[in-house]
Amino acid sequence: MSIEENVINVRETIPEGVTLIAVSKTKPVEDLQRVYDMEIRDFGENKVQELTDKFEKLPKDIRWHLIGHLQKNKIKYIVGKVYLIHSLDSVKLLEELEKHYKAKNMTAEVLIQINIGKEESKTGIYVEDLEVLISSCENCSNVKVRGLMAIIPQVSEKECGDYFKRMKNLFDDLKKRSFKNISMEILSMGMTGDYRLAIKEGSNMVRVGEGIFGKRNYNNKLGGK
Ligand SMILES: *Cc1c(COP(=O)(O)O)cnc(C)c1O
Repeated sequence: MSIEENVINVRETIPEGVTLIAVSKTKPVEDLQRVYDMEIRDFGENKVQELTDKFEKLPKDIRWHLIGHLQKNKIKYIVGKVYLIHSLDSVKLLEELEKHYKAKNMTAEVLIQINIGKEESKTGIYVEDLEVLISSCENCSNVKVRGLMAIIPQVSEKECGDYFKRMKNLFDDLKKRSFKNISMEILSMGMTGDYRLAIKEGSNMVRVGEGIFGKRNYNNKLGGK
């Protein structure tokens, strides 16, 4: 199926109130342009270099989402270019974001990435370390937390459902409390294989890559994950 058909098909499965991010990592700008022409404005990239390259080449009304791990030394390249950072997962990264965005008199909009499956191979903060990060966020002036993000383990559908439920409960619990600089509005979870289930369990932002662009080839020079 063509990219255009994919966009139409995926869109049909996304209810109102859920934001669809087209995850375009490893894909050429021509493909992104085709998706843009289908009126998609939210694009997700997992690498800073690739995001900033594409930022230069594509229309300026695109909302760029950084969905991959962010290294502190790369923050300077994204200030003013990224709409939402999905991967805040440490106090150190928070402090660097605050510093760089303050220097430019701008605000970083972020999601806290939760490592809900406690997988060592993955980034994201463990739930038990969350309170410390949240307290630090309350002391920031140039970083605003808008919600949570998770990449769940690759397990059976039933177990996926449980991880999504745990994320939704955490999201709802935090939403009930009131913090400075933190508003729980966005719950970013669900990818090509499981976004329908994620929506059913309460996700309101899904990140779909292969379901729109087709299979990724990690051997090309853009590189993948
Ligand atoms: C690559 C990626 C996606 C999209 O994955 P697909 O299976 O292609 O839909 C979503 N979220 C993150 C964080 C990713 O790195």
